[in-house]
Amino acid sequence: MSNIIFISGNARSGTTILGHYLSSKFNVFFAGEVLTNREFHISKKLLANYQLRNRKCTCGLLPNKCIFWSDLINNFSNDIPTYYKKCIAKKNKISGDIPFIDSSKNLSRLKNIIKSVNLKKEKIHVIHSIKNYKGQIYSGLKYGKSKKKNFLINNSLYYALYWLYSNIYSIVFLYNLKFKKKIDTFTIIFYEDFIFNQEEVFLKLSKKMKFLNPNNSTVSHSHEIGGNDGFVKGKKEKLIYQYDWIFSYSIFSPLISLFLDPIQFLIKKLS
Ligand SMILES: [Zn+2]
Repeated sequence: MSNIIFISGNARSGTTILGHYLSSKFNVFFAGEVLTNREFHISKKLLANYQLRNRKCTCGLLPNKCIFWSDLINNFSNDIPTYYKKCIAKKNKISGDIPFIDSSKNLSRLKNIIKSVNLKKEKIHVIHSIKNYKGQIYSGLKYGKSKKKNFLINNSLYYALYWLYSNIYSIVFLYNLKFKKKIDTFTIIFYEDFIFNQEEVFLKLSKKMKFLNPNNSTVSHSHEIGGNDGFVKGKKEKLIYQYDWIFSYSIFSPLISLFLDPIQFLIKKLS
């Protein structure tokens, strides 16, 4: 029986960094956003953009030199099941049958993975990462500003509703998958706990996923070639938490707190 760990969550909620840290703590294979990488390599425009970034894999090598991605990127397939099987086979060749971590985030990608694997042989476990809603709103606004987004979609109320909708939707969706036995376990973690209370988060995850073994070697299998660029630019060894949101304020803040504080509190208590 093999295990696949899928990390879901909103953009900028720590999905990539979580996968990377798991790969040094546990004997697992982190391959980053496996399905996203396929998506941008089959679109000429996205690929050109990607190549401009000159992004290295978290193993330190360029994707075409990386032990995991070098074969795969030349053979990207339109057929997702074929592609996914190739990825798992490559992982098995490099590191044997250790858990495979995919931080593809998005639930429609998770559905594709469920369709691609043999659920009798492969068990899927999901970690859903949630960032404190105030932090999520703040980073959304900052990102929106840098992309010069229209005020109608770049305001705190919009990001607050998005936080609420996407997380509640994900939780319901994932419980339903668990109920239908499409996934084996489902764990919610808060990004802030992962930053400030990491040992406890690791303990929670290893209680839920009993197959997780500590990584006793100095080698960690981390091969992430997409995701946030800042992640490889010197931030790899040190976790930096952006806390500017603590001092941020908008006219919507009281209204947002009134609704989201109790909801966030409940999710945290129940998780
Ligand atoms: Zn690599």
